[in-house]
Amino acid sequence: LTLCVPCDSIARAVGADDVAVALVREAERRQLSLDLRRTSSRGLYWLEPLVELETSEGRLGFGPVAPEDVPALLDALQGDAAAHPLALGLVEQLPYLKSQQRLLFARAGITRPLSLEDYRAQGGFEGLAKAVESSGEAIVASVLESGLRGRGGAAFPAGIKWRTVREAQAEQKYVVCNADEGDSGTFADRMLMEGDPFLLIEGMAIAGLAVGATQGYIYVRSEYPQSVETLRAALDIARAAGYLGVNVAGSGRAFDLEVRVGAGAYICGEETALLDSLEGKRGVVRAKPPLPALQGLFGLPTLVHNVLTLASVPVILARGAQFYRDFGMGRSLGTMPFQLAGNIRHGGLVERAFGLTLRELVEEYGGGTASGRPLKAAQVGGPLGAWVPPSQFDTPLDYEAFAAMGAMLGHGGVVVADDSLDMAHMARFALQFCAEESCGKCTPCRIGSTRGVEVVDRLLAAPSQAERQEQVILLKDLCDTLTYGSLCALGGMTSYPVASALKHFPADFGLETTEAD
Ligand code: SF4
Repeated sequence: LTLCVPCDSIARAVGADDVAVALVREAERRQLSLDLRRTSSRGLYWLEPLVELETSEGRLGFGPVAPEDVPALLDALQGDAAAHPLALGLVEQLPYLKSQQRLLFARAGITRPLSLEDYRAQGGFEGLAKAVESSGEAIVASVLESGLRGRGGAAFPAGIKWRTVREAQAEQKYVVCNADEGDSGTFADRMLMEGDPFLLIEGMAIAGLAVGATQGYIYVRSEYPQSVETLRAALDIARAAGYLGVNVAGSGRAFDLEVRVGAGAYICGEETALLDSLEGKRGVVRAKPPLPALQGLFGLPTLVHNVLTLASVPVILARGAQFYRDFGMGRSLGTMPFQLAGNIRHGGLVERAFGLTLRELVEEYGGGTASGRPLKAAQVGGPLGAWVPPSQFDTPLDYEAFAAMGAMLGHGGVVVADDSLDMAHMARFALQFCAEESCGKCTPCRIGSTRGVEVVDRLLAAPSQAERQEQVILLKDLCDTLTYGSLCALGGMTSYPVASALKHFPADFGLETTEAD
C-alpha cells in the first residue's frame, strides 16, 4: 500500500503530521505493509490533509482526513476505496486541478521535496542541462524571448535585467533570490521552497551561468522556518550531486548558493532594502540609479529576482522560449500562480496562463465566500493592492488590464471579502500598515501614512456630510502625494487600497454621494 501525505506547512498546520502518524500506527497494528511518502502539497488547501493512494490508474484522493478517520480509511483502502465518504476520485481529474496549467507547480503534490530521484523523474535539471550546453548569451536570449517578467510585483522584463548584469564588467557578480514573501494572502513562494526546492536551485544555477555570477543568495523571511530548513538540506544534496560548486553540472563553470534569513521587516522585500539587509545593515531603500543590476550587493552587479521568476527559468530552457510565450495574453506571457485566500470556500493555488478573469478565479475555482455571504470585493496584489468590486471581476488577470483600472497583480495574491467587511477600516489599516512598515527614508511615506490614519479617523468621526467631504479632499490629496512623492512602492502603493475603498465603497465612510473621481 503506497500512500502520500503532504509535508507542506499548511497541510501540517491542519494536522497532516498527526494523520501520517495515525496511518503508520494503524498499519502496524494491522500488520499491513505501508509505504508512506511525505510529498509536497497540491495546493488544494481546503482539502488538506489530503491523503493520496497510489493506484494503477493514478492517485486516488481522500480529504480532508482527520486522525480519527484513519481506521475506517484503512478498512476502505483494503476493500472498496472509492466508496469511502472522504473519497474524491482521481486527484488529477478534480476540476480545480485538471483545468490548471501548471508549469512552475508541475511537481506539486507529486514529488518528495528532497528526493533528487523524484525531481529528475519529473523533468528536473533538464533546463540546467540545456544551459550547460549553451553560451551565457544564448541563455539570456531565451529568457528575453520568452517574455518572462518579474513575478515579485513590478513585472519588469526579466531578460533585460539578465542582459544588463551579463554585460556589466566586474570581478564578481551575484544572483539574489528575493524570498521575503511578505504580502498578505500569498504563499506560492513558500509552497515552492518547501515543496520543490531543487526547481529554485536549478533556476538560480542557470541564472548564474547566464550572467557570469559565481555566488547566489536566497533571502528567506524568518517566518518561513520550514523553507529555510528544506532549502538548506536541498543545497547540500544538490552540491553533493554536482549541481552546485566549482563545476556546475559538468559545465566547468562555478556557482554556489547560500540561504540567508531576514528578520521580519516587510520593506526587506523591496530589492534594494533586501540588499542592505543581506549586507548586514538595517533594511533601508536605496535610491535608483544606480540599478542593482550594475551596483547591487556590496556594490557589484547583482541579478535580483523573486522566487517565482527564477523558478520559471528551467521550463523556459527545457521546453523553449516559444513554448513558454504561447501561454498568456498581450505582454503578460507564461503562467502565474494565483493564490486564493481570505474569506473563500476553496482557498489554494491556481496556476493558469494570464488572461483568465478574476471572476473565474474567485467564483469558479474559489467557490465564492467561505461564509456563504455575498462577495464584497477582492484585494489583489497584497496589502497595498486595490480592492476590486465584483462589478470589475470580469477584468482579465493581465498586468496591463489591471494597471488600467488603477490596480495591480503584484505577486498574484487574491484576498476575498464578504459583505460584512468594513472598507473604511481596511483603508485605515493600509495606512497604519504603511506607518508601521515604512523604512523612514522619505517624507510622504514616513509622515504621510500617520497623517493618513488621522484623516480617516477624522472623516469617520465628522458629524456632517460637509465636514466629511473636507476630509475626503484631504485624503485624496494625501493619496496623490504618496503615489507621486514616495521613493518606493510601499509608500507609492499605499494609496491603492485607500483610494479604491473610497471610490467603490463610499457608504462605508459614511458618505452619501458616490465618489466620481
Ligand atoms: Fe522608505 Fe516608505 Fe520611502 Fe519606501 S516609500 S523609501 S518604505 S519611507
